Amino acid sequence: MIKIERNTTPIKLTPVFVAAQTAEFITNGTNVWNIDWLKDSLLDLSNGKCAYCECDLKEESKYMEVEHFEDKANNPNKVMEWDNLLPSCKRCNGSKSTHNVITEPIINPFADTPSTHLTLRLFRFKHKDLKGKTTIDVVDLNNTERAVKKRFEVGEQLEKTIEKAQERLELFEENKTIQRKNKLINIMEDILLECQKKSIYSATCSTILHSSDTYLEIKRRMIVHGIWNSDLDELHYNSGLLIL
Ligand SMILES: [Zn+2]
Repeated sequence: MIKIERNTTPIKLTPVFVAAQTAEFITNGTNVWNIDWLKDSLLDLSNGKCAYCECDLKEESKYMEVEHFEDKANNPNKVMEWDNLLPSCKRCNGSKSTHNVITEPIINPFADTPSTHLTLRLFRFKHKDLKGKTTIDVVDLNNTERAVKKRFEVGEQLEKTIEKAQERLELFEENKTIQRKNKLINIMEDILLECQKKSIYSATCSTILHSSDTYLEIKRRMIVHGIWNSDLDELHYNSGLLIL
């Protein structure tokens, strides 16, 4: 989970429209939030990912649900309130269900900094405080099948790519050709691009990357060789902001 900025509001979501849709929900129980442009706007905010588990909501097998942070059963007047809507996968939305976030607060990725409340150990989220613990339990973020295994898979893939980068570094150190230098820079760029806020499971990838001795050693040696460039440095810095 990473912090997400709510930096836009859909133009079509006018106060008149919100009021009419809310009244419709209260009277008839209609799923008034089930609108393509509203879903697209939410997906834009999260780069196409679930706001809780960071899975890819644009994959064919998945589809996005509009999640109401303050649940719609207890807060019917907030069903169309922009600040109350999150893009979520079916699993996270279903797990959270009608949980009352006022009496038992959970992390709101649009308002809180997840790393204040959560950390990652061996592909499982660990809580730093009560809000973190409630979030893990309510959203079921340590579900073995859908969450922990997925984090393991992306972590494993990342580790393999880091090993490949180490081999490329050794080849470069053997013979400092332009070709070998470029191949090394490219793979480091690929690794870092997996750890940016646009990437799926970016919090997991960033945490693994920044705790990898191999990665940090490659970076150190690239600096010594004068081939750690400003693009890599910026990507490295930005990924550091997502660490849990
Ligand atoms: Zn999810």
